[in-house]
Amino acid sequence: MLKLYNSLTREKEEFRPLGGEATMYGCGPTVYNYAHIGNWRSFVFYDLLRRYLEYAGWPVNLAMNFTDVDDKTIRGSRAEGVPLKEFTRKYEEAFKKDSRKLNILPPRVYARATEHVNDMVRLVVRLRDRGLAYRAEDGSTYFDVSEFKGYGKLSHLDLGELREGASGRVSVDEYGKEEARDFALWKAWSEEDGDVYWDTVLGRGRPGWHVECSAMSQKYLGETIDVHAGGVDLIFPHHENEIAQSEGATGKPFVRYWVHCEHLLVDGRKMSKSLANFYTLHDLEEKGFKPVALRYFYLSAHYRSQLNFTLDALTQAQRTVEKLNDFVLRVRSAPNAENGVVTDALQTALKGFENAMDDDLDTANALPYLFEAVRVVNSEIEGRACVPVKDVLDFLMRVNSVLGVIDFAREEIPARIQKLVCEREKAREQKDFAKSDELRNKIRGEGFVVEDSAGGPRVRKA
Ligand SMILES: [Zn+2]
Repeated sequence: MLKLYNSLTREKEEFRPLGGEATMYGCGPTVYNYAHIGNWRSFVFYDLLRRYLEYAGWPVNLAMNFTDVDDKTIRGSRAEGVPLKEFTRKYEEAFKKDSRKLNILPPRVYARATEHVNDMVRLVVRLRDRGLAYRAEDGSTYFDVSEFKGYGKLSHLDLGELREGASGRVSVDEYGKEEARDFALWKAWSEEDGDVYWDTVLGRGRPGWHVECSAMSQKYLGETIDVHAGGVDLIFPHHENEIAQSEGATGKPFVRYWVHCEHLLVDGRKMSKSLANFYTLHDLEEKGFKPVALRYFYLSAHYRSQLNFTLDALTQAQRTVEKLNDFVLRVRSAPNAENGVVTDALQTALKGFENAMDDDLDTANALPYLFEAVRVVNSEIEGRACVPVKDVLDFLMRVNSVLGVIDFAREEIPARIQKLVCEREKAREQKDFAKSDELRNKIRGEGFVVEDSAGGPRVRKA
């Protein structure tokens, strides 16, 4: 029985969807630059959650947005002097491409904010009709937080500290808790917006960031959704405001389970460009890492604990993934048996894996069960015993349907090629580069290529 930690109640709660399938919304990227490895931790986490819900028997209707109009995207497109659409589509494509590399399954719906402005306007009008929104002197429409009972319930905000009065408004998309006050739902056009505006019943302008997710989640998933996921940095103001907008408009609970993924640190510090500890997926690929190694690295810790990224840790993760891939090949070529001692070990391991995952997706405690199974099977193979190949592969595939790190499509490399790769590795260690090049060419001549990666040499069919 799956339990998830709900940020709203601050308790682990048994998960059960309202309908036959689970509705899930994940706040997507703001497409104004390439996602960095801190962002990817959240997106891999959404994917883990989605995969495990499906593993547990609930198909998932997942919707995710692209924030392709907000303060940051407009600023970026103007700085580069390109139209907003052209500017954002580039990052949107990069996001989808990187998602595939990280084995992130696509959501049922990707929704662009710019294509849902009418839905947002309707939502704001609904809030205005219910006395929860007003138009200010600046022409923008704001949410009146004093009129919404329950404002602050997700972020545990002290309402007594809310600022009031004519200056009690915030028009920018991002702000801190100390600035909590009426926030912009619809922003009147200003000089800085350039040609980005819509003419609507709310006047000429554009939507605020927060209202985008409320409108799009309602459109695709309904007024009450099962799961809403995001990084912890989104709890305030973004998710707090989403609750106010959605519940304010419908009078119904917006989200049943709020789940948030912790921050990623890099070399023990917050990632920043000035500290030279800022990485995109592309940066890591250039250093010879496979994207799936990053995915494994994320999964090695529980999603609610802070995780410290280092290149050494990623190297380790890459080796582990390669070992798992090698293990698949070894099992495939092992002598087959109907069953054996490993059958029980596999069942025990699967049970342990599921129990850990049921406990709020505790991957850190689930992974050791996988390695225990690998250890038992390996020792059987090394002892020249027959193993139930199909059972072992079934186990790996089940576990991997959640983890998404093992490559089952990899082809077997003949022993004579493996031997040449080893010889070449020795030559490299002895700095005999002439010989190492000669061996590389020989391998090439046999139709295989060697790649030198951070996890050691890898060989594949040319
Ligand atoms: Zn959002």
